[in-house]
Order: sequence, then C-alpha cells, then structure tokens
Amino acid sequence: PRDTVDVVVVGSGGAGFSAAVSAHDNGAKVILIEKEPVIGGNAKLAAGGMNAAWTDQQKAKNIKDSPELMYKDTMKGGRNINDPALVEILSSHSKGSVDWMTAMGADLNDVGRMGGASVNRSHRPTGGAGVGAHVVQVLYDNAVKRNIDIRMNTRGVEVLKDDSGKVKGILVKGMYKGYYWVKTDAVILATGGFAKNNDRVAKLDPKLKGFISTNQPGAVGDGLDVAANAGAAMKDVEYIQAHPTLSVKGGVMVTEAVRGNGAILVNREGKRFVNEITTRDKASAAILAQTGKSAFLIFDDSVRKSLKKIDKYIGLGVAPTADSLVKLGEMKGVGIDGKALTETVARYNSFVTSGKDADFERPNLPRALNEGNYYAIEVTPGVHHTMGGVMIDTKAEVMNAKKQVIPGLYGAGEVTGGVHGANRLGGNAISDIITFGRLAGEEAAKYSKKN
Ligand code: ADP
Repeated sequence: PRDTVDVVVVGSGGAGFSAAVSAHDNGAKVILIEKEPVIGGNAKLAAGGMNAAWTDQQKAKNIKDSPELMYKDTMKGGRNINDPALVEILSSHSKGSVDWMTAMGADLNDVGRMGGASVNRSHRPTGGAGVGAHVVQVLYDNAVKRNIDIRMNTRGVEVLKDDSGKVKGILVKGMYKGYYWVKTDAVILATGGFAKNNDRVAKLDPKLKGFISTNQPGAVGDGLDVAANAGAAMKDVEYIQAHPTLSVKGGVMVTEAVRGNGAILVNREGKRFVNEITTRDKASAAILAQTGKSAFLIFDDSVRKSLKKIDKYIGLGVAPTADSLVKLGEMKGVGIDGKALTETVARYNSFVTSGKDADFERPNLPRALNEGNYYAIEVTPGVHHTMGGVMIDTKAEVMNAKKQVIPGLYGAGEVTGGVHGANRLGGNAISDIITFGRLAGEEAAKYSKKN
C-alpha cells in the first residue's frame, strides 16, 4: 500500500466531510478522497434548509416541535416505506446535529417551512442564504483545521477485503499518481446519488428518460457500483425525485410557488396544455410532450410582486421580460407564437373572472395576468434526488442481501437508501448527511480501534 490509515472516506459532500471530521475527533487517522476537482458534491447546491426538531433556534422563535412529529412527517412524506429505525435516528439526532454544526461555527438561526413539514423546522443561515454551501464550507474549514488528508481528483475504485470478508483497504485512482491502494480497516462510502446519470435513472424509472438534472457532474452513481462490487444490497433505488420546472437557461430550479401564485404554462405554439398545479410527475410528462421538450412559465407583474423569490430568477437572467405578450413571444431566447399567446392569456383571464378553468380544470385561479410587464421562463423537468441506495443499519454499517454487515464498510448520505422512503422531504437531505455522516465517522473510528 502507498498509505496506511484507520478510515478512508469516499466523497466530499456533506456526508463525507461530516464522517471525516467525526472519525478524526474519535481518534482515527483519516484520508478523504474526492473524484472531482472541486469539493462539496450536491450538498453544496442545497438551498432549502436543514430539518431538525426541538432545537434552541426553534425555541427562540417559539416554534413547538418534537422528534416524534419530525418522524411522523418524514414517514408520511416517504409514503411509509422508509426504514423506521433510520428515520428514528434522523429525527432524534437532528437537534444534536444542528448543535454540532453550530459548535463548529455554522449559523443555522433562520428557521423556515418546507413541504410536508407540520411546523417550521428548516434551519438555514440568517437571511435565508444557501444552507448547503455554508454547511460544506464550515465542515471543510474544520477538516483543514484538523489537518485531515484531503485528496482531490482521486476516485474510489474498489473496496478490498481479506479472506474472511473484512475490509482491508481501498483501490483508488489518482489523476496524477494513477492506481494505488490504501490500507485501512474501514471505508465510509459517502458518494452521493446518481441523478445526473440519465441512462441509469431511465433504466430504473422509464418516465424520467431524457430529463436534465439539478445535480453536479459527479452525481453519476459510480459509488453504488463500488458498493455493489463489495457485496452491498440496494434498497429503494427505483424511487427517483423529479421536479417539473427547471429553467432551461442555467438549470435553476423554479419553485412551484410561481405556478401556485398564478403563472401559467404554455408551449411554443402559445397554448396551455396542462393543469399547471397538478402533481410533479404529471406536469413533468406534459412538458416533455411539447415541441422542444420544454415549455414556458408565463406571468405578469402581479405574480412577480406576490413572490419575492421571483426577483432572484429575474436577477439570474432566466426570465426575459417585455411590456406586451407579442413582444415577449418574439424575444430572443423565447420564441412563442405571440398572437396565440395573447389569445391564450385572454382566455385564461376569463377563467379567472368566471372562477372555472374550462380547459384544464386548474383548481386555483389566484389572479388574472394583465398587469405591467410580462415574463417568460423556459422550463423543463429535471431529476433532483435519488431516494434509494446502499442498505445500512442503525450504525451506518453497510449490509449484504442477507442483511449481514460487511465488516468495515459504512455508508452515509444520498448513496444510502431507507431514510427517505419513496419521496424525500425538502430539508431532510442536509439533516440526513450531517447525522449519518457523523454516525458513520464515529462508528468507523470505534471499529478501527478494535481491529
Ligand atoms: P451527500 O449529499 O450524500 O454528502 P454529495 O453529492 O454532496 O453527497 O457528495 C458526494 C461526493 O462524492 C461528490 O462530490 C462526488 O463527486 C463524490 N464521489 C462520487 N463517487 C466517487 C468515487 N467513486 N470516488 C470519489 N469520490 C466520489
């Protein structure tokens, strides 16, 4: 071997860094490897928050919550196929994880609401800035402070085992050093999901064929192959979350609230084609059936004023604007039949007046589109999160198909299955990666001491 350590962590997202810091603090010598030239994985892109129950931050805002309520919400959101023991850990450790991050310098003082939560429990930096980037930065700074050996451009290729089936090392491939192996008692897989790999996604869920993704380029699932080769069983990999409205320009996810507050969806022919606030799977399929496999969210200044978030999309340059629908349709980067669009909006406005959508039975018609400037955001569905993955137990130990532990192999974060069931709630990913990353690091360090 080129190196000998106690624990090797594979992946530099939130789960990987939490695992590395916690293994170090439990006395282990650690190497963390990352195949990409940048740290942070998808964790760095997370915008929502970190779900946690009965925290000091909630108490300071008089929000009454409990781990039991977080457990219930998470099971319900996951359609009750989640592994109850893992959800129990997620909810009961969530406050401890927020405290752990806070002690390392994180600001998680803003507490907002996310879908499927009974109360406000989504913790994020003051002012509501991106939680993922902040959490990853704090973890990275703490890893550097501890002198943890972080190796970029280094891919985990194969988990090596001895004759008894125990982990004895990992084969890696460095961009400059080429293949080499590291001797170690424990490997923690924190390699994230595979939403960026459409072949893989479409094989598991054909409805998602051709979808773009919100994910970073490294989220292709090679970590799952490493796990499978080491004998790991997979759980719930067919549950893949899509979001119907990603802006084609820039790939920004456009929140459902834009439609909820009154935007309509039209195609290039200037026609509506779906009840805009149907479920995510149906809206996604309808958009993909249009010319160019995309559609446009059309709204006016009254919708814009109703939702602060829209200013962000305008600021990012993904929402071209004009003072008439015909001009909007003719704009570069739009390209909608303006005459048809004008007729469509007039017809839609008449539905708002009558209170009934005679074309698509949209259940809410909050406001007519006739104020000031008009906007168009080109959108297409995107794959967002993969719920399933490697099967783990309550010590983050990876299990084989017979539910036996593979000694020395651990998993944490999006690479694992079971925590989120069939559908992940917003804000539960950051909570998952911190809690299970920490747990995996601690357990792997303890295991290494014994071996
Ligand atoms: P999580 O949210 O579970 O922490 P992320 O997607 O944030 O997951 O991070 C996973 C990281 O693991 C990504 O940066 C990805 O590039 C990296 N990764 C994936 N597969 C490998 C591999 N085989 N070797 C090294 N790093 C990997």
